Amino acid sequence: METRLHPRFENDPAARIAEDALRACVHCGFCNATCPTYQEQGDELDGPRGRIYQIKEVLESGEANATTRTHLDRCLTCLNCMTTCPSGVDYNHLVAVGREVVERDLDRPWRERLLRGLLARALPARWPFRLALGLGRLARPALPARLKRRVPPRQATETVPRPANGAAGPGFQHGRVLLLGGCVHDAIDARINAALRHLLARRGVEVVETGAARCCGAVEHHLAFEERTRARVRANLDAWEPVLERGVDAVVSTASGCGVLLRDYGHILADDPTYAERAARLAARVRDPVELFDAESIRELGIRAPADHPPVAWHAPCTLQHGQALPGRVEPLLQAAGFNLVPVIEPHLCCGSAGTYSILQPEMAGRLRQRKLDNLEAAGPARIVTANIGCQTHLQSGTDTPVEHWLTLLERHCPATPAGA
Ligand code: SF4
Ligand code: SF4
Repeated sequence: METRLHPRFENDPAARIAEDALRACVHCGFCNATCPTYQEQGDELDGPRGRIYQIKEVLESGEANATTRTHLDRCLTCLNCMTTCPSGVDYNHLVAVGREVVERDLDRPWRERLLRGLLARALPARWPFRLALGLGRLARPALPARLKRRVPPRQATETVPRPANGAAGPGFQHGRVLLLGGCVHDAIDARINAALRHLLARRGVEVVETGAARCCGAVEHHLAFEERTRARVRANLDAWEPVLERGVDAVVSTASGCGVLLRDYGHILADDPTYAERAARLAARVRDPVELFDAESIRELGIRAPADHPPVAWHAPCTLQHGQALPGRVEPLLQAAGFNLVPVIEPHLCCGSAGTYSILQPEMAGRLRQRKLDNLEAAGPARIVTANIGCQTHLQSGTDTPVEHWLTLLERHCPATPAGA
């Protein structure tokens, strides 16, 4: 699309990136076919092509308006449109620029400002979330069923054995990974990180932790607090430096949503002369846990589903299949362990979780969750497995079918001694 930036953006590097993305779009509309909000609303302004036009108008006129903000708020940033787009339009960075400009130029109503500000502070700080969750768990028995599902029960981590690092059997990989603890992960379900630690230790891989700097910055980024996101990325790089200097083979998060932002560190600090190179180096080492295992390693670990294990349904988070471009990677691992997967239609569609989206856009998030659960549960699986704590919590709040991370499912069926050891 022919684009002329307003003079106020002429020296703005982020707007230049947006301009490249706008120029790449040929306005074909293929992306609308896979956009969840377009599918639900049937409104051009709630599809990627319409949003791209609205961002173009803002960048050309130099003026943001509340209508554009509404339609950008309704975008899940699921990046389904990027997977579909034949022209390679960089919607991810384009929508981030659009949101940053809209946020800078327009004041939100005070209630929205308050909620967004609270989320941006409380989630990365961890203790307010842990406190709220703890109180919710205390009140859980007295809550009606609908609310009860929204408060995840405490998960017992002692069922996950934790052998010392390096307890590998023959043929297992060695190396060192930096594990990002995450801001809310362990409070919601500490079994997930524990399962990864255990499985990697069984392969002789040393796991080092990120210490107190556990939040990747995705919460602030989703809320368009871009300066705060950049500050957090710089602080993380400083905090992780001693470990990175010792050499790590991979930087890993068990939440695929965090993985997307970690991979984007180089882009986020591309204009920072002090941090750009370090950020790019870290981003190049980011791996999702699914990249640390293959079908052979699952067999070597001796992971085996019981013969009578009922079928499971796999939900691929958008952040794994679109954001990190790793579709179809978990299923072979589950199948190698003998799990029977049910067929699921519309696997490309978002479940409605999308970071803080389910809190800020509850109506649309609820509709998408129901659509996703109808598809996941159509063949009657005994449990649903996924790869992102946000999807896990959001889906679980709408169903009694257990929802868990694929790592905890595999780890539960991992024997104490590796096969052939
Ligand atoms: S599919 Fe790509 S090129 Fe076509 S309208 Fe969507 S973003 Fe633009
Ligand atoms: S990121 Fe998702 S919700 Fe947003 S425009 Fe693209 S497909 Fe639609």
